[in-house]
This record gives sequence, structure tokens and C-alpha cells, in this order.
Amino acid sequence: MRQHGIHHVTAIAGPASRNLDFYTQVLGLRLVKKTVNFDDPSTYHLYYGDAAGQPGTILTFFPWEHAAPGRLGVGETQETVFRVPQASIGFWTHRFVEKGVLHEAPEKRFGETVLSFKDPDGTRLAVVGIAGIDDAPFWNGSDIPAEAAIRGFHSVSLLVAEAAPTGAILTDVLGFKEVAREGSLVRFASGDTALGGIVDLREAGGFLKGRPGAGTVHHVAFRAASDAVQTEMVEKLARNHGIVATEPKNRDYFRAVYFREPGGLLFEIATDDPGFAVDEAADALGQALKLPAFLEKRRAEIEAVLPAIA
Ligand code: ZN
Repeated sequence: MRQHGIHHVTAIAGPASRNLDFYTQVLGLRLVKKTVNFDDPSTYHLYYGDAAGQPGTILTFFPWEHAAPGRLGVGETQETVFRVPQASIGFWTHRFVEKGVLHEAPEKRFGETVLSFKDPDGTRLAVVGIAGIDDAPFWNGSDIPAEAAIRGFHSVSLLVAEAAPTGAILTDVLGFKEVAREGSLVRFASGDTALGGIVDLREAGGFLKGRPGAGTVHHVAFRAASDAVQTEMVEKLARNHGIVATEPKNRDYFRAVYFREPGGLLFEIATDDPGFAVDEAADALGQALKLPAFLEKRRAEIEAVLPAIA
């Protein structure tokens, strides 16, 4: 069966310990993998998600102790949005006040209540209250009650000069359909999953270009059910859109290809398998520093450089 939708979102952060505290203690996500940036092993790569770390729940960070802040602009992710049970928006508003999290007043978007907030690096996030998701999986290892806990991603919104070119990639290659428009927003949905199943394009022609740095999203990854589906998507991208993706890279927990879409964002296509329980027990995810085989012989040197985190 084909599953489309968001696989994971990867962003750039400041100090690792502050990042870990915020996502596990304030938002109540599970640290599902503690590893390093495979291309720069002096930096952590931290993965947060639900209990099992299923695709559609995973927000990951490259934390740099001294990362310069980025700037929101065209060709960047504007907001990453989590699903929470519909009745819990009040809980989250109180929690953000209590924990000193910068947030805005709740607003309606496509008929749903959205509460926007920022992490300590200024990463733009939101929770949206959704009916009928109380039974969806979540991580019960935090102090957040079941009736309020995050249920994976709802959506990302991407800031683009014009929606049509990025929309063509979403619909022709990544398995989405345009479903609604509201103001400058064009909403695309993957028909087959509500978990991470939405991409909103916000048209903002004339805006400055974004600048990468702490508090900005590095890339958005979309799901491929298998290597064969990933290959098909890559071929379609080349044949119909003249875009050449990278060779598949083995990220241990999925296999990934990357490409720059016409709106300027870095997209990835990641396989659903093998997932995060491939190199440690499902009940011990995120506890030990995991390294890919090709870096294991450098473990002592890598551990000496990484900052201590819990
Ligand atoms: Zn990625």
C-alpha cells in the first residue's frame, strides 16, 4: 500500500541540551534517536517523535552550540504544525505561559484552531486542535496528559513566491492533491493519511529570500513506501520536471534522496523502512549514542567532541 505525506522535518538549532529539554520536557516528544550528522559527525543529529518514531511524527535537529540565527523568507518552511486533540488548545496555551514559551493568540485556519509558538531558537511551530485523534499513538513518557499529548505532524507551511511550481511537484511526484484555498494559503493533502498529510503553500511574492541558520528548517522529507516507489518518484521528477535528485543515501533508519524544488526549498524523499528500532530495542530508543557502521571505529573521538546531554 502506498503511503504519502510528510516523513520528517529537519531543522537547525542552537545548543543541543536546550533543544533536548524543550522537545522532551516542554512538548513531551520522545527522543527516538541520538546519533550524529552522518556528513559532519562532530554534530549531533537528534530525532524526536511518537513512541515508535513512526514516519509523520519525526522532527529532527542538527544542533550547533554557536549557530547564528537564520531569517524567515521566501523558499523556506514557515511553520511546522503538530496535531493535538481538539479540546487541548487551552491546555497548551496555559503550558506555554507557564513555561515561558513565546506564542500567539489562537487563530482559525481552514476552520481549525491553530496556536503558533516558537522554540528557544525561534523555530516556528504550531499545534492544531483536531477532532477524532484521541486514539492516535503518542509518547506517554512525559508529564503531558494523554488528552493533550502531541499526535505527530499535521502539516508544514512553506513560504514560496508562487504556489504553482511547488504545487506541481507535490501533486505529480509526492502524492498530494490541492484541496482548499484561504487567503494567500493553498492547501495540499495526501488522501491516504491524516498523519503529516498536509502541506500549505503560502504565496509571498516580493518577500526577501530566507537565510539558513538556527531556528530555520533545513529540509522537509516526504514518504516513499519502498525503494521501488522512491525510484519511481525520482524518475518522474526528472522526466516531467527536469529535476535531478541525488543518489540514494543510506541514513540507517531510512534511505534518502534530496532535491531542490522550484520554490527554492530542499526536499527529501525517505523510505518508511527500516525505522528507528533497527539498531536498538523499541523500548530503549534514544538512550545510547548510535553511530553508523562507517563511524563506529571513530566513536571515542566523536564522543569526546560532542557536548554532554542527558
Ligand atoms: Zn532528512
